Amino acid sequence: MLTAQEAAKALSDLTLDSLYEIPEGRQVLSCIQCGMCAGTCPYGEFMEYPPRRIIAMLRDGLIEEVFHSESLLNCVACYACMSKCPRGIHLTEVLLPLIKQEMFANLSEVPAELQAALQNTLRYGNPQGLSPRKRADWVKSLDFPIRILPDDPRPADVLWFVECYTSYHPRGQDNSRAVAKLLHALGVDFAILGNEERCAGECARLVGEAGLFDTLRERNVGVLRKYQFKTFLTAGAHAYDAFKYLYPAYGFDYPLEHTTTFLAGRLEALKPRLARKLNHLVAFHDPCCLGRHNGFYEEPRALLRAIPGIKLVEMDHHHINSLCCGGGGGGMWLDTYYKSKGMERLSERRVREAIKTGADVLAVACPLEVSRFEDAVKVMGYENKMVVRDVVELLAEALGGD
Ligand code: SF4
Ligand code: SF4
Repeated sequence: MLTAQEAAKALSDLTLDSLYEIPEGRQVLSCIQCGMCAGTCPYGEFMEYPPRRIIAMLRDGLIEEVFHSESLLNCVACYACMSKCPRGIHLTEVLLPLIKQEMFANLSEVPAELQAALQNTLRYGNPQGLSPRKRADWVKSLDFPIRILPDDPRPADVLWFVECYTSYHPRGQDNSRAVAKLLHALGVDFAILGNEERCAGECARLVGEAGLFDTLRERNVGVLRKYQFKTFLTAGAHAYDAFKYLYPAYGFDYPLEHTTTFLAGRLEALKPRLARKLNHLVAFHDPCCLGRHNGFYEEPRALLRAIPGIKLVEMDHHHINSLCCGGGGGGMWLDTYYKSKGMERLSERRVREAIKTGADVLAVACPLEVSRFEDAVKVMGYENKMVVRDVVELLAEALGGD
C-alpha cells in the first residue's frame, strides 16, 4: 500500500510510456469500449476523440493522431466520465491529463484567452495578470484585521490559502470576506500568505500545462515550509484537489480542508450564530471537484439547511449526476473558443435547470462558479428571478451585521 506521498509522486512522475507501471494506469487495459464515458460527457458530441476513442487509439498504436487534434480542449475536467466508467478507469485523474500534455505541446495555435491566462499565471502567479503585491488588498475592506504571515510569522492554527479568483475577482473577494467573517465569528486562529501565495496551478495542469503546474507547486510548497500551522484551508475546489492529490509528492502533508467541509465540521458551533432568517428557495449546484471527485455532497447541503428560512430544492441533475459549470480544466479561459465552435456554454445549460426548480437562489461552493453563473443568469435575462450566491456568502449573511 503506497503512502499518500508515494501515490502522489507516482502520479506526478507518470508519462504515457510509464502508464502501465501504476495500478491506476493499468486499469486502462480493462476498458470494454462501452462508450459510457463519451455518452456522459457534457461536450462529448464535440469531441472527435472522447475517452473511449482515445483508449482505442492507444491500443491500436495510433495515439499520435490524438495529439494533433484539439479534441481535448473541449474537456472541462468534470469527472463525469470517470465517475460513470463501469471499469473504474481513472480517466480525468490519470489518462486525460497525459494526453492533454501532448496535445497542448502540439497545438498549432493556443486560443488567445487561454494563452493570456497561462502567461499571466507564469509571470504574476495568477491568471488575471494582477500584481502579487495586491493579492491581499481585499482584507482592507473588513472591519477586523487579518493576520498576513510574511508580516507576522507566528504559528497559526489554520493557514488559509485564499487562491486567485477569491483574491482578485470582485465576486471572488465576496467569498473571501464571507469566509473571513465566519472564521472570525467562530474564533478560529487563522492567517493568510498574502503576497507570498501563488496560484495552486490545478487548472493549468488540467488543460495540459504540466510544467507550469510543477513550477507553481514547487514555489508554493517552499513558501509553506517557512510557517507553522495545524490545518491547511482553501476555498478553491480545484486548489483542494491539487493539494490533496499532487502536492504531497513534494512534501505537502498537512491536514487539508475545503471551507465547506471545515465549516460543516463546526456546524454545532456555527448554528447558534446564524440568527438572521433569509427566506430563500435554494437550488444547490454540486461542484465537480467537491462532489464527483471527493464525495462532498452532504456537507454544503447541511450548511444550507442550518440557515434559518432556507429551503432546499434539487435540480434534475444533482449529486453524482450534477452538470459541470464549464469552468474546470481551463474551460474558464475557453468561453470565446467554445462560442466560436457553436458550443452552448455549460453554465447556461445549468442555469436553465436551476430556473426550472423555481428557486430564487442558485448556491455554489467553488469560487469559479459565481461569476460564470451570474453571467449566464444575466445573458439569459433571469436577473429578476435568480441570484447566485456561494454557500459561505449565505452563511455570512445569516450571521447578521453588514
Ligand atoms: S466508460 Fe470506461 S470502460 Fe466504457 S468505454 Fe469509457 S473508459 Fe472504456
Ligand atoms: S472529464 Fe468531463 S469533459 Fe472531460 S472527457 Fe470526461 S466527461 Fe468529458
